Amino acid sequence: MKIETVYVPTDHYIDGKRVSGSASFEVRTPIDNSVLGTCAGGNKDLIDRAVEAARAAFHTWGKASAVARGVVLRRFAQRIRANKAALSIVESTDNGGLRHAIAAHMIERSAQNIEFFAARAEHIGGEVVPGSTNTDIVTYEPAGVAALITPWNGPLMLSTWKLGPALAAGNTVVLKPPELAPLSCGLLASLAEEAGVPPGVLNVVHGDGTVTGQALADHPGISRISFTGSPQTGRKVATAAAANLVPVSLELGGKSPFVVFSSADLDAAAATAARQYFNAGQVCLAGTRILAERSIAQSLLEKIREKVGAMRIGDPRDESTSIGPLISARQFERVKGFVDRARAQGAEVLFGGRQHSAGELYFEPTLLAPVSQKSEIVQNEVFGPVLTWQTFDEEAEAITLANDTTFGLAAVIFTGDPAQAERVGKAIVAGTVWVNSFFVRNLAAPFSGFRLSGVGVEGGNRSFDFYCNVKNLSIDNASFQRGASSGPGRP
Ligand code: NAD
Repeated sequence: MKIETVYVPTDHYIDGKRVSGSASFEVRTPIDNSVLGTCAGGNKDLIDRAVEAARAAFHTWGKASAVARGVVLRRFAQRIRANKAALSIVESTDNGGLRHAIAAHMIERSAQNIEFFAARAEHIGGEVVPGSTNTDIVTYEPAGVAALITPWNGPLMLSTWKLGPALAAGNTVVLKPPELAPLSCGLLASLAEEAGVPPGVLNVVHGDGTVTGQALADHPGISRISFTGSPQTGRKVATAAAANLVPVSLELGGKSPFVVFSSADLDAAAATAARQYFNAGQVCLAGTRILAERSIAQSLLEKIREKVGAMRIGDPRDESTSIGPLISARQFERVKGFVDRARAQGAEVLFGGRQHSAGELYFEPTLLAPVSQKSEIVQNEVFGPVLTWQTFDEEAEAITLANDTTFGLAAVIFTGDPAQAERVGKAIVAGTVWVNSFFVRNLAAPFSGFRLSGVGVEGGNRSFDFYCNVKNLSIDNASFQRGASSGPGRP
């Protein structure tokens, strides 16, 4: 398939070869909902082939030194960086994400993340734990074949979140990209090949979730499953992992609070609130529930209205666009359904609330109030440009409202009081709490979701550990001194 001047392979990539599918599925662009072409479909046989290739490749890749793997992975990162223009136009066309943001942020982060884990693998070495009878030598060994399953809202970056630690630790992988936006991961496989990633180390099998994704999660030859997507699918993946007793990492949905206290810099808070509409709200971390202290609520609302009013909605490939389309007609109907039902329950539209004139799949950035805490619009993830607006009088009330959903992915707090930032930050149940900021993370820091937002940690040193078997070689301190004249002796 060709996207502008970029040739994008749409076959599977198994054992270093392009493999055509048993069937194919349509790929559409949300920009105008037109068909771009077709992509190879997957099935259980193709998953079997890919897992077999990955298992065979594990014998050499898993035994190579971290330094040798690091050389290849750094070349891979460089190929990603060098292909920024191609990857960003392909992904933007495929999933409707902003081309300039994909190029400036996501692709660079993907490359940096792979480099981060290449370095992590080189430096981890192991630990020696001295004891009075035995000395324990703790080592990190690659687990085997990792199954990686990713969603459409950031297919390239979210795939490299997993590829980086998995490959650096010495695992081989089978990646199942999202069927709604498979193209950038197809291109990624070619970049891995160009970088010298050996055949079988990184396999890509396209296809739907029910057949292809499920076959991968169910496969008994898999040693780890890392999944990013909805809680509903996460449950199925966890069930498959339980059947094979395989460790699983789940990064799921969110309904994050965005809390603004009266001492906050309201201009900064309003600008950041407007950023929650980024990617048309199709961001798991988005702070979709604005909670404003009553004394500043009106002033904050006017500032947010002004910031959002200045955002341009339209073609995500244009440099000046701030908000693009929703991914599909189904997602559009889902978002509209949430807004319609909230209105039927008494919510008013403070702004937005309907389709935007930019096209079929464009929805206006929307803010709804009043909303009750127990209502669907406050409790459920919309995954669209729809935020709710609530006010509070006391800090304790803000914390109660912030924590009163079944999710726990992220939270944003704006305050001018450092003690309050620490108090509230500690009291909010979420894997990441940003204070006076949003969407920044040191690559070494963890990223995780609590409650229905996930299981395990993705990102940072802890996500490297997930892809390793942590082994203890426990040696009797006296044994080698008693007999042999040569030997390891006391470590
Ligand atoms: P989804 O769960 O529908 O699909 C995610 C992936 O799982 C796709 O590749 C899909 O094909 C596959 N899949 C579907 N059914 C499967 C099955 N039975 N077995 C195995 N794989 C299966 O999610 P989506 O609609 O693509 O993505 C949106 C969701 O992802 C939202 O809930 C969002 O919050 C979440 N998300 C979370 C994070 C995070 O880091 N926490 C990041 C991005 C998106």
